[in-house]
Amino acid sequence: MDRIDLRCVLDEKDVIIEASSPSSLCAAEVGGNFLQAISDLSLRELFRMIIARVRETGQSMIFSLRCDTAELKRLSYVRVGLHQTAAGSRVEVVNGTLQETKHRIRLTLLDDEVPRGPEILMICSWCKQVKLAGGRWVEVEEAMQELQLFEQRVLPRLSHGMCPTCAEAVRADMLRQVAASGTPRSRAGA
Ligand SMILES: [Zn+2]
Repeated sequence: MDRIDLRCVLDEKDVIIEASSPSSLCAAEVGGNFLQAISDLSLRELFRMIIARVRETGQSMIFSLRCDTAELKRLSYVRVGLHQTAAGSRVEVVNGTLQETKHRIRLTLLDDEVPRGPEILMICSWCKQVKLAGGRWVEVEEAMQELQLFEQRVLPRLSHGMCPTCAEAVRADMLRQVAASGTPRSRAGA
């Protein structure tokens, strides 16, 4: 399976100049700022960094991430690269789905419509694992079982962040992809 959910082209100020329909990653609309359209602040910061690197090096970057919904387990990818237009090269962001399966049981914790109480749970923006007491990161289903959330009608709020495994993996991935691209373009020939 390889389905493109979202494709955006951004001008030099990250304003969307071309967009397909919005995806779960980003409520993108032409004329809006791409970064502002990403509600998850942790992901927004990462995209800010990735887009800056792509502009600097001219080299595409690809990352995989989980974009689960209450019903679906979804493995996605994001590719950020340069796209040539008549006005010059512009950043292009493509978000696609690689694999999609139904969860064994509906994960209401990922449903925005479910009422939320004062408690807060940290979820990793990248792998969608949830942080439990003691710093253990587990799958949403396991967290819901351990915290007995399947029986509750009001659920904790989710705060987005990054688990240490993903933080390290994304950092290493960026370094590797930048290294593979050689000299940053802005410095080449300087
Ligand atoms: Zn993670």
